[in-house]
Amino acid sequence: MFPFTDGQKRRLLELGAAPSACEAEFEDAAASDRRFKALEKELVSASKRRLGDLREGSRRPALLVLQSEVECALREEGFVQVSTPVILAKRMLERMSIGDGHALSSQVFWLEDDRCLRPMLAPNLYSVSTDLMRIWEKPIRIFEIGPCFRKESQGNRHLNEFTMCNLVEWGTPEEARADRLRQLARVVMSAAGIDGCDLEETDSEVYGPSLDVVWRGMELASGNIGPHFLDANWGIRSTWVGLGFGLERLLMARQKTNNIHSVGKSLSYLDGVRLRIN
Ligand code: ATP
Ligand code: MG
Repeated sequence: MFPFTDGQKRRLLELGAAPSACEAEFEDAAASDRRFKALEKELVSASKRRLGDLREGSRRPALLVLQSEVECALREEGFVQVSTPVILAKRMLERMSIGDGHALSSQVFWLEDDRCLRPMLAPNLYSVSTDLMRIWEKPIRIFEIGPCFRKESQGNRHLNEFTMCNLVEWGTPEEARADRLRQLARVVMSAAGIDGCDLEETDSEVYGPSLDVVWRGMELASGNIGPHFLDANWGIRSTWVGLGFGLERLLMARQKTNNIHSVGKSLSYLDGVRLRIN
């Protein structure tokens, strides 16, 4: 039997073919070539149609649509959206216990003057929360959606630049925390249109015992409940529940694709459509 060549498979996947379509086998090399050319043509036409929809304005890139949907769902749930700087001082990471020698420290993109590109949103959310707690009664609910940066050994599930959605609710009644964490996970998963997730107890390098939202073996989010020993670094004494989602991972689950590069910020893809199609 004659399968597609590796080069043909790569091209078909780039153009958005379903992985199963690339595993077909044929009676001879000519049949395999004919099928490749036909499939390539179909996928190029579909790609051009999708780009046309963007141009006409009937579509927006899926990552931005997902972001709006999650923002809307969290605001309806009473969360206040915040927007904080991407550049983070080293001391803010140290207050998260991420000092030199910590596993995550080697993944940080350092800038000059002891500053870095934020690898997470939590330190900024701690900082804003500390101030809000002096002004507002609890419960206090805030979230941010924005870029985070980590040096990763690549692969299909990690980007150096990805979009985190981090939410925290301060003052959740102690006995309700575990249920509330699950409920908030469901709010975001349902806004993202994703069914069939599992909640798994794990151990985070930063927070210790955590609850992960997992879809077909892929981590979509990590959640925690507090009080937590890190809270003392911010002078906070409160119960809380919090979750951090990767929007690109949510999009992979929603679109059932296994290539994070096609759904993330990219120069090669526009809304998942490969730009080199001609
Ligand atoms: P993983 O074990 O998959 O590398 P993590 O546990 O290090 O993830 P967290 O710190 O828990 O990640 O971040 C919260 C969420 O952000 C993750 O569940 C994931 O959806 C997303 N995320 C983390 N790192 C990346 C990355 N490099 N690229 C894309 N998404 C990421
Ligand atoms: Mg995690």
